[in-house]
Amino acid sequence: MISATMTNAFIAATSSIAKAAVEEAIAKLSARYGFDATEASNFLLSGGIEVKKPRILEQNLPWNGKVRVGCCSAVLKNKGLFTQCPLTKKNGDLCGKCDRYFQMHGTTRFGTMEQRLACPALEYTVGKQVVVPYIVYMEKNNLTRAEVEEAAAEYGITIDPEQYVKTKRGRPNIVREMAAPVFEPPEVTEELIPPPEEVEEEEQEEQEEVEEEITYAKVMKFTVTEARAFAEKHDIEIKKDGKIIKGTELKNIIIETLGLAPPT
Ligand SMILES: [Zn+2]
Repeated sequence: MISATMTNAFIAATSSIAKAAVEEAIAKLSARYGFDATEASNFLLSGGIEVKKPRILEQNLPWNGKVRVGCCSAVLKNKGLFTQCPLTKKNGDLCGKCDRYFQMHGTTRFGTMEQRLACPALEYTVGKQVVVPYIVYMEKNNLTRAEVEEAAAEYGITIDPEQYVKTKRGRPNIVREMAAPVFEPPEVTEELIPPPEEVEEEEQEEQEEVEEEITYAKVMKFTVTEARAFAEKHDIEIKKDGKIIKGTELKNIIIETLGLAPPT
């Protein structure tokens, strides 16, 4: 389908065409019934003729955070507004069309109402596509804020003032093309992830610890605490007859258990 948008100039032209038609009708009636055409014209047309643009459909207003009950729960791209599919639910929560897509792909194309609700209205994204603030849509479709507010009032919808702002917002949420709800992971800050060098250092330390070979000499140099810690770490029994083995005796047990030989 090709769509054309009424520009303000076009609306003004339509208004003057309508006015000319009414004036012509008055002139004909005046000739026939003998009344004053000018007076009749002033009476009828003093306020001018207003040609109204078609009312903005509810589905073409920005997403206002409210799910329309009875409507399909899939999200449609809707020129970047990412709004609820206006069709009636047919198969479960989806309309026939969205359900066919779901059956073929195992997912809805632009997410679900659940996903739409899970993040701020202006931060919804599908892949690389980010929701556009309504002001962008308004400019493309020649809508004034007054017209939008009027339509919104008719539908009992409140439009978030943020929708009229063009500035870039924070990092958008990534919504995968899935039917299941997507929960936003907690924001990862630098505090949670140490800088790369630190990670490397830690890994190296761990490796060194693992690779460090235990020798007879090293065991003999252990303090009491070190010996006990080492024994516990290597599942070596440190109790004998209910008493904790200490000092050289424990070191000897470690050496025996690990089969370490004294230096020659
Ligand atoms: Zn649908």
